[in-house]
Amino acid sequence: MNPNAPKAPQKLAILGSTGSIGTQALDVISRKPELFKATVLTAHSRAELLIEQARQFLPDHVVIVNESKYSEVKEALSGLPIEVHTGADALVSVVCLEQVDMVLTALVGFSGLRPTMAAIEHGKPIALANKETLVVAGEIVMAAAAARNVPIIPVDSEHSALFQCMVGEEQNPVEKIYLTASGGPFRGFSLEQLRMVTKAQALKHPNWEMGAKITIDSASMMNKGLEVIEAKWLFDLDNSQIDVIVHPQSIIHSIVQFEDGSMKAQMGLPDMRLPIQYAMAYPQRVENDFPRFNFLDYPSLTFEQVDTSVFKNLDLAFRALDRGGNMACILNAANEITNRMFLDERIRFTDIADFNEAAMEQVEFIPNPSLEDLFETDSATRAWVRAAVEQVKP
Ligand code: NAD
Ligand code: MG
Repeated sequence: MNPNAPKAPQKLAILGSTGSIGTQALDVISRKPELFKATVLTAHSRAELLIEQARQFLPDHVVIVNESKYSEVKEALSGLPIEVHTGADALVSVVCLEQVDMVLTALVGFSGLRPTMAAIEHGKPIALANKETLVVAGEIVMAAAAARNVPIIPVDSEHSALFQCMVGEEQNPVEKIYLTASGGPFRGFSLEQLRMVTKAQALKHPNWEMGAKITIDSASMMNKGLEVIEAKWLFDLDNSQIDVIVHPQSIIHSIVQFEDGSMKAQMGLPDMRLPIQYAMAYPQRVENDFPRFNFLDYPSLTFEQVDTSVFKNLDLAFRALDRGGNMACILNAANEITNRMFLDERIRFTDIADFNEAAMEQVEFIPNPSLEDLFETDSATRAWVRAAVEQVKP
């Protein structure tokens, strides 16, 4: 038994328990009840699934953010020793509860920022799936975590891979990192082909089953752009130390290159339960019976460059990093709206990057934003993009 192992069972607050990451986290927990316990479950609107999860896992608290679903959840769980809360503010209060040992941020988008900051301020270790939090406010979030000595353990598969490669290398500077990208369903497409793709095509990721927002982000390469920004803040890298390489098989999850040129990669089948479990049990590795990799199923692992003249979102992310300030927050907010509008079939696939780029040019730039500035940037950008789309596509 590792003497640094977290105390068992580790009591988790799972923000976004009804989503792709949330349900896989509960799968991990159900396999190791002696190690993990879900003490808080939260969802936005999927009341039925939240109720089912609460009955199975018996957390102390649940939050249904959407207030119109509150009475349904409250009634269904009456008679059980579970407190039911509603509203976005409740996410902030539940992460701070005494009994919470770790917070898994598995909710989508900017909504993760406030509860993550609150958890850090209360000294709660973070298992971070919600990459958007670091995209919009990476500098502020990492500084708050460092000031309180709060660990932030990545769940995103690429960042978990990088993290795992760096364990034991604390004294050794990193020369560069390679984030691997599957390339998504439109790998090799021309701009012309990309313009015509449908929502159904974009929602079919070749290697991963994920929530709708990140699936569209993966198809548009915005996901990789967001991950570049996430990596910068998590690992304190210069922009020039970050590279992206397309690896369609999604077996190598990312690579660290040290100053002697030696490269370490972390590999495995694409299964998010592994990085989720790793973050929840760190620094321990926990045995499991997840499917194992077989070399004969993958006779060749291949690599190629991303064409950023087609997949402009990746380039926009590097540009946002170079500019600094609130630029990544602008890009993220614009993308949350354009991603949604593509899913609602309001705009074309290539409009996503075009409106994201326009927002970066038009929304007010703030060189040294405070947290409040970032909240304002987020709402201002959303409003700007909605108006801009309205103008060309009323
Ligand atoms: P999802 O859409 O499947 O689930 C999102 C969860 O968050 C749901 O439980 C939903 O109720 C909740 N939620 C959504 N909006 C909310 C809001 N405004 N306030 C409170 N709760 C809200 O998403 P997902 O695919 O599980 O992704 C979750 C996060 O993890 C994202 O930031 C994503 O980028 C990241 N991530 C996901 C994967 C994956 O494999 N799914 C991999 C890497 C990183
Ligand atoms: Mg990822």
